[in-house]
Amino acid sequence: MRCTFACAATLAALFVISGDSPACSDAAGEVNIYSYRQPYLIEPLLKEFSDETGIKTNVIFASKGLIERIHAEGRNSPADVLLTTDLGNLSQAVASGISQPVTSDVIDASIPESYRGVNDEWIGLTGRARVVYASKDRVDLDSITYEDLADPKWRGKICIRSGQHPYNVALVASMLAHLGPEKTEAWLRGVKENLARKPAGNDRLQVKGVYAGECDLAIGNTYYMGKMLTDKKHPEQKEWAASVKILFPNTAGRGTHVNVSGAVLAKNAPNKDNALKLIEFLASDEGQTMYAEVNHEYPTKDGVAWSELVQSWGTFKADSISLNEIAGLRKAASEMIDKIGFNDGPSS
Ligand code: FE
Repeated sequence: MRCTFACAATLAALFVISGDSPACSDAAGEVNIYSYRQPYLIEPLLKEFSDETGIKTNVIFASKGLIERIHAEGRNSPADVLLTTDLGNLSQAVASGISQPVTSDVIDASIPESYRGVNDEWIGLTGRARVVYASKDRVDLDSITYEDLADPKWRGKICIRSGQHPYNVALVASMLAHLGPEKTEAWLRGVKENLARKPAGNDRLQVKGVYAGECDLAIGNTYYMGKMLTDKKHPEQKEWAASVKILFPNTAGRGTHVNVSGAVLAKNAPNKDNALKLIEFLASDEGQTMYAEVNHEYPTKDGVAWSELVQSWGTFKADSISLNEIAGLRKAASEMIDKIGFNDGPSS
């Protein structure tokens, strides 16, 4: 992120023309990205962005600590854009004061308000439905609700990762938003009693549990179906995926809970204009299609085609509740998950 030769040359040229002294990185046409999202997904998008705009991208990839880092860097932070999964991270970024509103007519026109933070302090770029993976052999259903998961008929038959994983915290927060605290707690206790085992492992391992006959239903995000089917490093996961069908909960009612990945414009972004251009690109038909094809996620922009594989899972109705409302209930959800000892698994 230092001033390059090209940058210095541009800077000199601009000096002559305007007499201004623009920030070095602006003149070079750069944008600095801190990314929790992985290189295989982000690098192709950034290459396309640079090819089209000539703006150079500098990326720091990490699995944790980026929000804290931007906060610690303060006014001198080189960060322009934070890319991350999950409502929890997006909310944390805003709560810790490292964001600023994304003021863009392009974004306003392309991304529905339900997928944007308050004052556009974050922008949802992809959707990930939290669904039920049901055994093809043992579950003769083609629809289900989240509420059904607490029905005693599923005793000992449900696999799920830690209740405190952000995906599940957001799901429980959405139940709180729709059902209120009393009904949600009763529901969560019911789900806990129906677990086949203590919550552990990632979403894919829950599907493996169905494959292995440990459970009949697993809770997971949709794109893991795509990952299991296409992961060349783990060919055995194809069989796990083949043993289940996806049921989109509540699709006949309020709709399936959909979490997001998204972008935050850093509060002190030194290359703000380029940062806006990048976020607009990620929200464009082209960017949205790339996310969908590479990572089997749902575009948040209306009218962008789903990948063929994602289409094969069928259409569904997404819960249209504002993610801001869900974000506001995450803390209460997390406390409830602890209070009822969800991660202890069933009591008998
Ligand atoms: Fe994930």
